[in-house]
Amino acid sequence: MYLYKPTSHILYLLTFDIEAWYHLYPKPYKHVIFQKDVYPASLERDTRRIFHLLEEKSLKATFFWLGEDAKKHPGLVRELHDYGHEIGVHSFSHLRIREMDKVTFKLNTEQALKTIEDITGEKVKSYRAPDFSITEKDLWALEILQDLGIERDCSTIAGSHFGGQIIPAAPFLIKNNGVVLKEFPVSSFPFLGHNFKYAGSGYFRITPYGFLNHKITTSPYVMSYFHPRDFDTLIHKKIKWDPYLKLKYRMGAGRAFRHLGQLSEVIPWISLREAENGIDWEAAEVVEI
Ligand SMILES: [Zn+2]
Repeated sequence: MYLYKPTSHILYLLTFDIEAWYHLYPKPYKHVIFQKDVYPASLERDTRRIFHLLEEKSLKATFFWLGEDAKKHPGLVRELHDYGHEIGVHSFSHLRIREMDKVTFKLNTEQALKTIEDITGEKVKSYRAPDFSITEKDLWALEILQDLGIERDCSTIAGSHFGGQIIPAAPFLIKNNGVVLKEFPVSSFPFLGHNFKYAGSGYFRITPYGFLNHKITTSPYVMSYFHPRDFDTLIHKKIKWDPYLKLKYRMGAGRAFRHLGQLSEVIPWISLREAENGIDWEAAEVVEI
């Protein structure tokens, strides 16, 4: 069994948010939504590229699927599941928590869970909110997630302020109003007044490999997060978008997949499901809000 206790062991978590390329923030990007049907092949192709890399390296990861995309690609969801990857949920239609009331959030999450569970035949237990959007103003979402059978959440950012407390840089228990969830925060470090989420997406793409390698190999806990589009260089030829988006989503896309492959030679990435049983939850910090 993989054993992890805060400060004395290492834990490297590999996660992907599987969603179509056009779920970008900040919203709204109307000209992007207008083009959303222009490039339908990207999700399947880019996710299969990730799948093959992990097969090659014999690694397992957690794939947080968007419900509406799982519905379009049931065969791929099933293949990932049957291979041994964990299938988590990333909402149905990529609305942030603050864009929904309680009823809408519950229906949206239920719809995503049903879609995925009907495909895999297995209960989904891991969740990540779109845009890491569970904040201290949306704590009601935790109770709904627990009611729906979610046990592990990855919607917080290490080092950020949350209900008057600072989110730890390690797995912890989040408690609120009788709800208890196992929380796996995304890794970050403070940079120019901002939490720099170096282990995923645009932050990973723009960070020089030497620094990434040093930071990840010397950290006791790393939670990564990638999207299929992070590794897609064709997208910039297919989609007409403004210079800001081009800069934000193009920078480093050509080298990010290579960097993930290089890191995967030396990093023993695992999924959340694999990590949970090895963690000494008695020793984990409790954030009670
Ligand atoms: Zn997302």
